[in-house]
Amino acid sequence: KMAAPRALFGVLLISAGAADAFSSSLLSSSFLPGTSRASLSLSHRSSAAPAGRTVAEGAVGLDMLVDVPKQVLVTGASGRTGFAVFKLLWENPKDFVAQGFVRSEKGAKMLEKIGASLGDSDSIKTSNAKLRALGMPADDEDPDIFLGDISDMASLAPAMRNCDALVICTSGVPKLRKTELFKSILSKLIGRQRMPKFYYETMPEQIDWEGCRNQIDVAKEAGGDHIVLVSSMGVSPAKNNGDNILNKIGDGNILVWKAKAEEYLAASGVDYTIIHPGGLLNKAGGEREIVLGVNDELLDAYESLGATRAIPREDVAMLVVQALRHKELVTNMSFDCVSKAPGEGKPTMSFAPLFEALS
Ligand code: NAP
Repeated sequence: KMAAPRALFGVLLISAGAADAFSSSLLSSSFLPGTSRASLSLSHRSSAAPAGRTVAEGAVGLDMLVDVPKQVLVTGASGRTGFAVFKLLWENPKDFVAQGFVRSEKGAKMLEKIGASLGDSDSIKTSNAKLRALGMPADDEDPDIFLGDISDMASLAPAMRNCDALVICTSGVPKLRKTELFKSILSKLIGRQRMPKFYYETMPEQIDWEGCRNQIDVAKEAGGDHIVLVSSMGVSPAKNNGDNILNKIGDGNILVWKAKAEEYLAASGVDYTIIHPGGLLNKAGGEREIVLGVNDELLDAYESLGATRAIPREDVAMLVVQALRHKELVTNMSFDCVSKAPGEGKPTMSFAPLFEALS
């Protein structure tokens, strides 16, 4: 696997046309089976050399750099949005070196299913070291998957090393007790409205605030130059109060802690993009028109715009990837996203104009 040299990525030039082709190729999941990540290299495109001039005479610099992929760590990579982000990045090895941070073996297995690796085991590394001591070539395989917990900065640091960007998809996950499920079904059967009671194993204060802060600190320390945070609509002061149903879930005040993390990120000095999705759907991406807004205005205006309050997780993942792609258009910005129902409007294929319309 080739890690993208950060300094080189800074001068990478990609045209808007190339970016649009990229978005359509992501949507049509154009990953070529069998493409070896190890086979990626800084390639000369000698055909691009102007007539009468060889690549070696000077055109070599930028031509070579065009193929440098951006190395991105996705946290919460076994979560529903996080996995969709990781998969999009993984399927585009020409543009991205994808790394996933997960907290369990089960999570790691999800990423392994699409070809990612935990790297060599300790016993293989030991044998490799013995072979190297004997003068034989034996390289350790670099991991794509990192196991750890966002409350433990020491487990985050190796995952972020050498990364250009961090995508934060971790979140406190509300859970429903079995008895609550039963009570809710019963209430529905007898026609009564009942709000089921949720609980958190780890409260949003620890995950959405402290865990997020840890990730920002580690990314800053590692020299990352872009953090994309998947947060939530409803964090603006006007909507983020005790009556907000999202804050009431499990008495977690999740939006309060998310807002605190956003403030911390904005003050961190690292370039950032914050994405606030509406209600997340486990539906296919690329089939709907995406509608962007700011300051939670969509919460009141979505209907008048012909949109719904919701958006598929796969479309949010695409927005993340496009934000990485068009960093210059979304640096130090926060935006909200919802979508139109399928068949209403045209599926969004081109993202730069959407981002440009925000500023
Ligand atoms: P999700 O599936 O709930 O994933 C959350 C991820 O966080 C999981 O992968 C989980 O790991 C990971 N995580 C939790 N605690 C961790 C810890 N201590 N260390 C490492 N990883 C940890 O996420 P989602 O529903 O797709 O939501 C993505 C984001 O959008 C979240 O910020 C969410 O709050 C926000 N959002 C949700 C909605 C909605 O309708 N649900 C609406 C708007 C915004 P495991 O895989 O091991 O559990």
